[in-house]
Amino acid sequence: MYIRKIILLLFTAFIFLCALGTEQAYANEGVIEGSNLNIRSGPGTEYESIGQAETGETYQVVQQADGWVEIELEKETGWVSAEFITINETASTDSTVPLEDSDISSITIQYDNTQLRDGPSTEHAIVHFAEKGTEYEVVSTSGEWYEIRNGELTGFVLKELVETAENNSTYKGFKNKTIVIDAGHGGRDVGAVSDTDAYEKDITYVTAKELEKQLQYLGADVLLTREQDEFVSLTSRVTYSNLVDSDAFISLHYNSVPELPEVTGIETFYYSKQNEKMANYIHNGIISATDETDRGSHEGDLLVLRLNLKPSVLIELGFMSNPESDVLLQTNAYQKKLVSGIVDGLNKYFHSVE
Ligand SMILES: [Zn+2]
Repeated sequence: MYIRKIILLLFTAFIFLCALGTEQAYANEGVIEGSNLNIRSGPGTEYESIGQAETGETYQVVQQADGWVEIELEKETGWVSAEFITINETASTDSTVPLEDSDISSITIQYDNTQLRDGPSTEHAIVHFAEKGTEYEVVSTSGEWYEIRNGELTGFVLKELVETAENNSTYKGFKNKTIVIDAGHGGRDVGAVSDTDAYEKDITYVTAKELEKQLQYLGADVLLTREQDEFVSLTSRVTYSNLVDSDAFISLHYNSVPELPEVTGIETFYYSKQNEKMANYIHNGIISATDETDRGSHEGDLLVLRLNLKPSVLIELGFMSNPESDVLLQTNAYQKKLVSGIVDGLNKYFHSVE
């Protein structure tokens, strides 16, 4: 009987603490703006002063009533005049971070009728449809969203729908550049085949599409020598590169030596000496992005390079005959790494020749 009472008491205490905890988590904070501000026992000057608050002190707000705010003190609650306390009603926008000077300061809308909302989620109401090309000042950032302003108009926009000034400056080398991506093999020419039955033609295509996406995002014009799983002869690939006004031709391949499964690494080829610089930049970009074994950047007598009149390289991006590489090459995360290395190297190359 006695034990039951104790259990009941503990249970009640537990519920009480839970309730307290919940209330605290959602309570608003108030910041005092006034020195020697009287804290009173009730909501009015007729109530006695039970203490004083100073500028900058923060208190949990219990409730507001008639120009007075009840705040939580150490052992009790007290009341201060609402005139001297600023309440941060920020339960839902807690994650909004004011921007540092070095951060993005403006964005450009990339699509017509881009939705601006009155808060940082799709649950918030649409306040405006923005037109492509409009510039906005960035006020703050909140997760995947920017809070933006243009004159009287403010709203929140999804980061992925806009272009930032930062992108423009770091990767401005890609503006007005045409890049031809050559996904090795295709159709009846499957290329190398791994132990897990992966085809080189499929992996080069995955890499090509990811590279296309990243380069397009940075403002480049991108062309592919094949747009699907089809056979395209080597001479057709080169002819295509020579016909378009391209600034770079990048041929993507994967290596294989089934009799030496322990062999791994990345190797880059160029044909004419004048393409050595581009090859080195791209090669070093990939090595630092992936930490893979560095098999070097070399001259290579390969048809797609020899007959190419444009700056061109061929990259062997890894060994499908190595069991670990075989698995790794088929993951999205690693593909993104490879591609970010190519993009980084190419960006540095374009900057170096400007
Ligand atoms: Zn190949």
